[in-house]
Amino acid sequence: MNDFEREKYSRQILLFGEEGQEKLKNAKVLVAGAGGLGSPVSTYLAIAGIGKIILADFDSVDPSNLNRQFLHHQKDIGRLKVESAKEKLLSMNPDIEVETIAEMLTESNLEALVPECDVIVDALDNLETRHMLNKLAIKRRIPLIHGAVTGYDGQVTTIVPGETPCFYCIFPRISKKEIFPVLGATPGIIGSIQANEVIKFLTGQGKLLEGRLLFWNGLSGSFSEISLSKLNNCPVCGTLKTISEKK
Ligand SMILES: [Zn+2]
Repeated sequence: MNDFEREKYSRQILLFGEEGQEKLKNAKVLVAGAGGLGSPVSTYLAIAGIGKIILADFDSVDPSNLNRQFLHHQKDIGRLKVESAKEKLLSMNPDIEVETIAEMLTESNLEALVPECDVIVDALDNLETRHMLNKLAIKRRIPLIHGAVTGYDGQVTTIVPGETPCFYCIFPRISKKEIFPVLGATPGIIGSIQANEVIKFLTGQGKLLEGRLLFWNGLSGSFSEISLSKLNNCPVCGTLKTISEKK
């Protein structure tokens, strides 16, 4: 680590030392979705010095994105979201790498498109792709940080394959994408918590939201949480051994 990096990250090096900062620098994180959640997640990961961020989103910027997807500016309307996001992230922190995947993720291309990574962040807006990402995370034994928002409300949980319930255990229903209302501050709050989970996981600090679903109710200004259980015979994670059993 050079002197500039020591100074740039000094306030967080106070939290987890240069050793922790090196762990962030060596990390590869996939952020699936470069929209409302993807904006705060990838911003906080970029400025924290995560070495490589892989951004996946096939969509282009449209005017209805601008109330919350702050990586995209009015001048970016019509551009690919991953390109617009990459430009802003590298402007904030030119010392990281940002890789982009501008294709729609499907069952057949997901495995080939998504490179090896240490953590996956679900910053998506539909259940169908979330279930596909869950399958990939379980198969590759990669932690998956789920976040979702609607209106003033949001939720977060951290899925650790083999240890916690998977996304299917929690939300076995599959429905099509729909248009929902959302205030920009809501994904701001939830995406920030997701970035916090990623950094805790990578530095090994604190207690993750494992097996716990945290809810944010923006209208009452309150958080609450519930404990999650594995689904009996879950078709996705049912036969998976815990990481310790695997060894
Ligand atoms: Zn499961």
